[in-house]
Amino acid sequence: MESRFNISEDLYTAMHKCIRCGQCVYGNEDARFSPMQIKAKYFTYSAGGIMQIARAIYEGKMGFSEPLRDLLFHCTTCGACEINCGVIGSQVDLFTLLKRELAKNGIPLLEPHKSIVENVLSKKNIYEGNLPGRTDWLSDEEKESMSSNPEVFYHVGCISSYMEKEIPNAFVSVLTKLEIPFAINNDEWCCGAPLYFAGYEEETYDLAKHNVEAIEKSGASKVVFTCPTCAMIFKNYYPRWVKRPIKFEILHATEFFERLQDKGKLKLGPIGTRKTVTYHDPCHLGRGQGVYDAPRRILNAIEDLDFKEFSLSRENSLCCGGGGLVPTGFPDFADDLARIRVSDMKNMGADLLVTACPACKENMKIAVKKLKRGAKVSDITELIDQALQ
Ligand code: SF4
Ligand code: SF4
Repeated sequence: MESRFNISEDLYTAMHKCIRCGQCVYGNEDARFSPMQIKAKYFTYSAGGIMQIARAIYEGKMGFSEPLRDLLFHCTTCGACEINCGVIGSQVDLFTLLKRELAKNGIPLLEPHKSIVENVLSKKNIYEGNLPGRTDWLSDEEKESMSSNPEVFYHVGCISSYMEKEIPNAFVSVLTKLEIPFAINNDEWCCGAPLYFAGYEEETYDLAKHNVEAIEKSGASKVVFTCPTCAMIFKNYYPRWVKRPIKFEILHATEFFERLQDKGKLKLGPIGTRKTVTYHDPCHLGRGQGVYDAPRRILNAIEDLDFKEFSLSRENSLCCGGGGLVPTGFPDFADDLARIRVSDMKNMGADLLVTACPACKENMKIAVKKLKRGAKVSDITELIDQALQ
């Protein structure tokens, strides 16, 4: 039988190991953790379903098509299937390979995704139009305070540089208060996640090289991220994309702050108003990097927060819909997922929804506005800035 695409041995094995058991759909009895099942409750809309399609294409029994593209781009890359599948763990990489093959087989990207890819390739960020400078959110004083011998290099990411600017402002404010020397690259480039998740892996290589060289040149021993997707991409993909080991340490902000907390350097008091708070695990921080405890330890240290856990949390957290280019390709589906999160949060009596990701914050803020349920969404770094003693 004719093979319809090139595949690594590992992914070939993974594809053939799928036994259609459906565990990726049903998980721990509560099927709501599987985002695509919220779109459509049949097997095609699941990791196992896509695995079977991949096999059929590989065996020449079916071809690439626009409906298959739309199915693949409903995957938020949340990784819930990888955690719950007892057999394989590389579903998202296989789906990304299929996306690459879509382009090779003449299936065009959806228009909004095409724009994102073109923007990253030409302007090194995801957005349309003429934008201000990447670090224009910094005050002149903060720009001058940047160190030529930094302890920390801060990679800001596209969403925070241009949209969710309160997050980098809070992060820099905390570093400044703690007198930690830091640097930011005025010529930072997109980390490459949007290209990778659109199926354009080779096009990420220049981005990775540029970002890695700038950090190495700064002499910083660690790079810290407030965006978990950027951090996950640096940790899990950059060694492959730059074809050598990464010399500096890669930490999400919550990991970095937890360390400071352990050393007694991050002392948190109250934020000033008593609130019932819950924490939404960003998929690329939790399942993507295994960081679950650090944000909870930080939130529990803030004196006037009463912490309540979502029933779907940690490994079984439900994606907010903000990943995998879903908000641009299928905004209504992204919104449906975010609304579930916001409704659950209100139903459990919380009035503050905290996350640790600019994409989650952006997506859930839209849902809060549409649901008119009087909730607030904040990034954990903003709360740390408010509670810092
Ligand atoms: S992807 Fe894993 S959990 Fe899903 S059907 Fe296949 S073997 Fe089962
Ligand atoms: S990564 Fe998430 S959205 Fe994609 S198939 Fe797996 S569970 Fe579904």
